[in-house]
Amino acid sequence: MARKNQHYQKLAAGYLFPEIGRRTRLFQEQHPEAEILRLGIGNTTEPLTPSVIEGLHDGVSRLASLETYTGYGDEQGDLPLREKLAAFYAGRGVNLDADEFFVSDGAKPDSANIQSIFSRDCIAAFQDPAYPVYVDTNVIAGRSGEFQKDTGRYEGFVYLPCSRENNFFPNLPEQKVDLIYLCSPNNPTGAVAAREQLASYVEYARRNRSVLIFDASYAEYISDPALPKSIFEIEGAKECAIEINSFSKFAGFTGVRLGWTIVPKDLVIEDSEPGEINHMWFRRQTTFFNGASNIAQRGGLAVLSDAGLQECRELIQYYMNNASIIREGLLSKGLEVYGGSNAPYLWLKTPGNMTSWEFFDKLLEEAWVIGTPGVGFGPAGEGYFRLSAFGHREVVETAVGRIQSRLKI
Ligand code: PLP
Repeated sequence: MARKNQHYQKLAAGYLFPEIGRRTRLFQEQHPEAEILRLGIGNTTEPLTPSVIEGLHDGVSRLASLETYTGYGDEQGDLPLREKLAAFYAGRGVNLDADEFFVSDGAKPDSANIQSIFSRDCIAAFQDPAYPVYVDTNVIAGRSGEFQKDTGRYEGFVYLPCSRENNFFPNLPEQKVDLIYLCSPNNPTGAVAAREQLASYVEYARRNRSVLIFDASYAEYISDPALPKSIFEIEGAKECAIEINSFSKFAGFTGVRLGWTIVPKDLVIEDSEPGEINHMWFRRQTTFFNGASNIAQRGGLAVLSDAGLQECRELIQYYMNNASIIREGLLSKGLEVYGGSNAPYLWLKTPGNMTSWEFFDKLLEEAWVIGTPGVGFGPAGEGYFRLSAFGHREVVETAVGRIQSRLKI
């Protein structure tokens, strides 16, 4: 008799985006004249750049001829792409072997799947607020108890609150935890971890034989040279960290699908030898995954070419100029704004102690603008609100103009 994975039943209802949709539809029905603008979505909007398009076309052309056609490739990614990634990291002073890189179809699947190579009784700790995939996949894997409605937390998980009091970087866990999810630049807060902050977590993880699962999906948005783009810029991190990254926000590959995960051979946990965790991820990927699209991987090579990198930098600059426009607009209204300097997200404190949802309704009703309630990313997000810099310039400018002229604060 087949039975369900009971852990799915523990998941708190996927409330955030359906509820945003419901409230938006209702408002639109009541105000058919309202042209609603979205500043809430973490999705890229601008076209791929010329070198990348050329790389993707090259990938397609190769499939058209007998001499260059390829079918299945290595599940962990084509060697030229893994070597190019290793060279990309070497360029910022991080030396890793090509066989420490695992190419994938994106950071979401990798950040969801990575927990599967660790024991179910590991204690998992999460930045709060955070990208919801980390928590939900650990619930599905059975690492939590029940969801507690009053606290917005799952029993058995350790929450690491990030607020203005700690500059949105979590204090070290007070107890011993095993898996620690960190994301920098952070979605949703837009905070970027400083070198010393990451070093404190590396020191904690080495001392406790825990693993840092470091999501660097927005690393290319960092322009301040003092801020690390990779956890492996921190001494000792190879012994205790896994890094997950993506071409999605780096190069506009949200729909193309390509990412990578680095599992260093030096990584050791309580019951493993050096190389063992690297091999387990290899085993996991070669068993459950059949490799990223060969066309997408040609696109990835093009991103990492000199011309590709230059073009992607300009693409990122476009979004970061949006971030500045939003930031300036909000500040001119006297709002308390965080992020948006080395990250494409802005995190604002709701005025007058409004809840995240109260501010959502206010922004929609007064400015016809949609954002994302901070509480949707975790209980510590209550009283905050996320705006995203991903959008066409005209939309961003119009939305900010409306916030400035119509929002009553
Ligand atoms: N990690 C974070 C922190 C994200 O915000 C996102 C997407 O919004 C992802 C991962 C997903 O990346 P990908 O498109 O590579 O699956």
